[in-house]
Amino acid sequence: MSEGRFDSVVYGSRLARAADLAGQAGLDALFVTTGPDFRYLTGSRAETFERLTVLVIPAQGRPRVVVPKMELAALRSSALGDLGVDMIDWVDGDDPYALALDGLGTINRFAVVDAMPALHSVPFTHRIGVPPELATVVLREMRMVKDADEIEALRRAGAAIDRVHARVGDWLKAGRTEREVAADIDAAIVAEGHTVADFIIVGSGPNGADPHHEVSDRVIDEGDVVVVDIGGPVEPGYNSDSTRTYVVGSAPSEVTDVYAVLQRAQQAAVDAIRPGATAGEIDAAARSVITEAGYGDYFIHRTGHGIGLSVHEEPYIVGGSDQVLREGMAFSVEPGIYFPGSWGARIEDIVVVTADGGEPMNTQPHELRSV
Ligand code: ZN
Ligand code: ZN
Ligand code: ZN
Repeated sequence: MSEGRFDSVVYGSRLARAADLAGQAGLDALFVTTGPDFRYLTGSRAETFERLTVLVIPAQGRPRVVVPKMELAALRSSALGDLGVDMIDWVDGDDPYALALDGLGTINRFAVVDAMPALHSVPFTHRIGVPPELATVVLREMRMVKDADEIEALRRAGAAIDRVHARVGDWLKAGRTEREVAADIDAAIVAEGHTVADFIIVGSGPNGADPHHEVSDRVIDEGDVVVVDIGGPVEPGYNSDSTRTYVVGSAPSEVTDVYAVLQRAQQAAVDAIRPGATAGEIDAAARSVITEAGYGDYFIHRTGHGIGLSVHEEPYIVGGSDQVLREGMAFSVEPGIYFPGSWGARIEDIVVVTADGGEPMNTQPHELRSV
């Protein structure tokens, strides 16, 4: 690994496979602007917006990248430099779309990454004369199934966020605000090996019933149930995402009873994971436990999401999905039960599909932890 990426040979084979899959899908070319797909294919974390940087992967022929001259040096240090991919630079006033299409021949069908701004997809569409398709059909097949090095990165990310959860009891105390607790967590996420804290949810008491609450100035009280959902990337860009639910002091039996249901639901979903199962079956495994206990109306989101270079990516673990699980897929298993205005709880681990089951990347205990 160098400068936050894998060896260039990894990206060489990814580019070749993307071209192959594009051809099989009947696409003449893929157009990849900066973002997670670009990073997956090149190892570059370049972020550009209004100035076009685009990797063009024709089904037949050599890939090329069109890049603003001012960004050229950064791109040369990516795998694209080692791989000898043609780099066509441009300066303000040039037509970068024409440079991207030059010599490609007739394009009947092309695809763009879903993160491409309309600012760029519309000019490509006008010049090519047909509307774009989504490159996701090709790239999801590649990004969903992680190789051994990617799983190793997810394992490091999981261990790093586990070390943060292990310390939450040091900071989560009655009389402190969610924001104060989150500031300590933020520093620990970086100290434990992440490049940055990508998100921090500290949902105390009624705020815990809002799954995407972040933090507030609410003062944490004795007896509060507190949802702590945290994560961020480790090099080379793979994310952690783990939730544990805490209680300040001790919990009444109505809380521990519901929590026991949640814990069984999370475990049932993990136990259902194996190659050949569908994402819908994993969701159903968690949901049926919660529904049978009478709390189905309070589990208001899907059971999980894929994770890798993006925190949320394919495969989505959602009811009715017939996406078949394959060895190497990585996703969260994160059922929750939320009582609006009162309290909520969630348990979340990242799990990788193995040859005969699922391996959690997180190993902190699942019990409602008293702090
Ligand atoms: Zn989410
Ligand atoms: Zn989470
Ligand atoms: Zn998550």
